[in-house]
Amino acid sequence: MKIAMVSEHASPLALVGGVDAGGQNVAVAELSAALARRGHQVVVYTRRDDPLLPWRVETDRGFAVVHVPAGPAEYLPKDELLQHMYAFGESLVESWSTWRPDVAHAHFWMSGLATLRAARCHDVPTVQTFHALGGVKRRHQGADDTSPDDRIRLEAIVARSVDRVAATCSEELLELARMGRTPDGVSVIPCGVDADEFTPYGPASSRGRRRRVVAVGRLVPRKGFETTIEAMRHLPDAELVIVGGPDKSKLDSDAEAIRLQRMAARLGLADRVHLYGSVLREEMPMLLRSADVVAATPWYEPFGIVPLEAMACGVPVVASAVGGMLDTVVDQVTGRLVPPTDPRALASAIGPILSQPRLRERLGRAGRRRVCARYTWDRVADDMAQVYRRLTNSGPASGATS
Ligand code: UDP
Repeated sequence: MKIAMVSEHASPLALVGGVDAGGQNVAVAELSAALARRGHQVVVYTRRDDPLLPWRVETDRGFAVVHVPAGPAEYLPKDELLQHMYAFGESLVESWSTWRPDVAHAHFWMSGLATLRAARCHDVPTVQTFHALGGVKRRHQGADDTSPDDRIRLEAIVARSVDRVAATCSEELLELARMGRTPDGVSVIPCGVDADEFTPYGPASSRGRRRRVVAVGRLVPRKGFETTIEAMRHLPDAELVIVGGPDKSKLDSDAEAIRLQRMAARLGLADRVHLYGSVLREEMPMLLRSADVVAATPWYEPFGIVPLEAMACGVPVVASAVGGMLDTVVDQVTGRLVPPTDPRALASAIGPILSQPRLRERLGRAGRRRVCARYTWDRVADDMAQVYRRLTNSGPASGATS
């Protein structure tokens, strides 16, 4: 199959950890690589955000990346990209007139707009993964949400117009139904993890004598690092390592890093809360293995790859009972699920795992087993290919309510 992946802001070639670079970059890269391993031709289309980028890059993982000219060739925050999606779509129209994909899979709502434009022109079936939904973001972030005003309306149009939605978690089905996309037009296809790279067997980053809690993610308030910092007050013998955000050398000028550091100092935790800044993907398994427990405490989470990566490394996960983690983390089996933004509940869940090695091992082993059974990228790619195949064999599927 010829597969076009459209990922306007999240390039599979970008380093992750920054404000706009995270799970979507990883998901697009890993899904594309797994599909390429299965013999599919995969081209990823992403916005050209640097004048030095070549038009097309053949990666050593078997897929190609095309840098689409749309707006200035410089980094722009994703919330400023909508105005360039028309040009993005036009460029896809042109590209696909010489290489017509059998299916186009758009990632994030703005990619969906550009993809629909080109797919209509060339009669290509479309799959949409939102990765995040504007309605959910607005509900949680209110006035702090900097998304374009039209996002919620346009996102609903995308949800109703594509041939199939690939939701990342079961909870998303409800949100999509609110947007007018009934569950029969949706497949739940989770993100995955490379279980050969993220394993319990390998070196761990060095650490001191304290028990260690690790939290990983883009340094944005909705990731809920604040809750984990506060929980540390009730875990006196442990340290917290927060990974993500800009490079360590630039943490001192990052507003969120400063806010979290000040908060830790105010709570008397400055010597037990460490911000590492962003870490390269290859270093992530070592870092996760150095943890006694990984805390993932977002306010909401469309999927959450980090909990899977921790489970793959055999580390118990204590997570907010929201979004993707309701599917991936099994309470009392692979870790614990706790209410979001509740530091006391979080500390009560983490405490016993830190103090009981046997419990830690049992939860860690079960996490690894669960990941290997259900969440490898190869398995995810097989499920996704099945979705594509259904669309390409039988024409555009129905399922939208309008
Ligand atoms: N990540 C990384 N380096 C960092 C911070 C994060 O490689 O410094 C990776 C992390 O291992 C995971 C992804 O970025 O693969 C974050 O994905 P997740 O779904 O957890 O969060 P999102 O960024 O999508 O909100």
